[in-house]
Amino acid sequence: MAERGADAPETLPGLRETVRAARPRRTPKTEPVAEVGPVARVLVDTPLAHLDRPFDYAVPASMADAAVPGARVKVRFAGKDLDGYVTERAAESDHTGALTPLRRVVSAEPVLLPAVAETAGLLAERYAGTRADLLRLAVPPRHAATEKQPSPPEEAVRVDTAAAVAAWQRYDAAGAFLGHLGEGGSPRAVWSAVPGDDWPGLLAAAAAVTLAGGRGAVLVAPDQRDVARLDAALTARLGPGHHVVLTAGAGPARRYREYLAVSRGTRRIVVGTRAAAFAPVHDLGLVAIWDDGDDLHAEPRAPYPHTREVLLTRAHVEGAAALVGGFARSVEAEQLLATGWAHELAASRDTLRAAVTVSVTGATDLELERDPLARAARMPQQVTHALSAGLVRGPVLVQTPRRGYAATLACERCRTPARCAVCTGPLGVSGPTAPPACRWCATVVDDWACVACGHRGLRAPVVGERRTAEELGRAFASTPVLSSGGDHVVASVPARPATPVPTTPTRMVVLSATANHFTPAALSWHTWR
Ligand SMILES: [Zn+2]
Ligand SMILES: [Zn+2]
Repeated sequence: MAERGADAPETLPGLRETVRAARPRRTPKTEPVAEVGPVARVLVDTPLAHLDRPFDYAVPASMADAAVPGARVKVRFAGKDLDGYVTERAAESDHTGALTPLRRVVSAEPVLLPAVAETAGLLAERYAGTRADLLRLAVPPRHAATEKQPSPPEEAVRVDTAAAVAAWQRYDAAGAFLGHLGEGGSPRAVWSAVPGDDWPGLLAAAAAVTLAGGRGAVLVAPDQRDVARLDAALTARLGPGHHVVLTAGAGPARRYREYLAVSRGTRRIVVGTRAAAFAPVHDLGLVAIWDDGDDLHAEPRAPYPHTREVLLTRAHVEGAAALVGGFARSVEAEQLLATGWAHELAASRDTLRAAVTVSVTGATDLELERDPLARAARMPQQVTHALSAGLVRGPVLVQTPRRGYAATLACERCRTPARCAVCTGPLGVSGPTAPPACRWCATVVDDWACVACGHRGLRAPVVGERRTAEELGRAFASTPVLSSGGDHVVASVPARPATPVPTTPTRMVVLSATANHFTPAALSWHTWR
């Protein structure tokens, strides 16, 4: 074009010059580079896996103070302006030739800790993802107005270490674990909580011991309800002003404010859900995960890191202690024990036996003699007795595998499953007064007759927690019965007063298997088929 244009006659004289003058001029960058640390290593937010490494940029003198490690910057990358984080300032670069200068420093706030950047690098390798994807999960979006405010200073801390250790006395190895933790060591343990134990209180005690030793802690639980219990337990143990709660539900400004309190080092204990595992705690001493088998710990966004892996990687990178706890042990936690990576924190058999009694109705001849219907009745005598005995002590939790009222129906006489005439979907009943309806197409069936035998009576072979609650309500007329499951999960039940008053009703809660985050204050555990 340039060659041809030079010789060709101008059809519109002067146009070329006008266009040329209007083009933005690429002025050569004449600004001198920073005297100290003229090179910035930048992790660029690009989805391209083959470019997932730090790139060197020149630091102009005007940005020398702002482009600190951990700061957000804008850089020119593959013809575009992209976001990035400075990971390091260096004296020189391996790159031969002139370095492109940083475009600008978005904020001098160091939001990405070197240890978190390193963890992201290891996790990116492990999950075959990119660091940029992990950093998007780790660092919340910037909220400029929040960033201008200072973080409140940490209150003076007084930890009753002896009391914190005493809280764990039911677990034989806990004394050694906490002692090592308080002295700055990095013990690792898989903890099997005794049924009914105050797990938030115990995790708070472990965090308090860590804080007393001068280090910080990250505690991650599956959902908001668990986090709220941990929050309350930490406030009870340490008082307010020592920890922050990081959950996605808090809103961008609040979440960023709490994040900054941690990255600035004025709070050293973090509780939260999944994303809190990346919290930039200074001097990390302990990472803990509660109920690591819960699906909510698996991140649904690429590269799908699991909270347990994030925390254990951080423990490895930062030399922190690790605690993997739950009422039930996950396969992965068992593997941590099997490989010797972690020690076991468990109560002795005697303690466990005292905490929980497992009995099966109609398991012995004696019981069958006492109650011949023990194997067939919906509520055998033994269950009724156990419920009565439990209600004297406190709330009783009854678990049923299904939610709703009556999930399936069948012919009363020949037990052929009742099906919808329109779509062959299963028929169910949603409440005591509701007519049978199809669970697929919602067609109400008024005049059902068995296709096999013509009988018109229906029975409910599978009942949900609402129907069980109704039956228990009839059997224990003076006891309030709550139903928890599906979209009406009961968060907690008040414990009975310390001095039992005969007229104070205790509660019975019927729980469906889907309501697994119900949190009873006191628990008597009964199962029957
Ligand atoms: Zn029939
Ligand atoms: Zn139907």
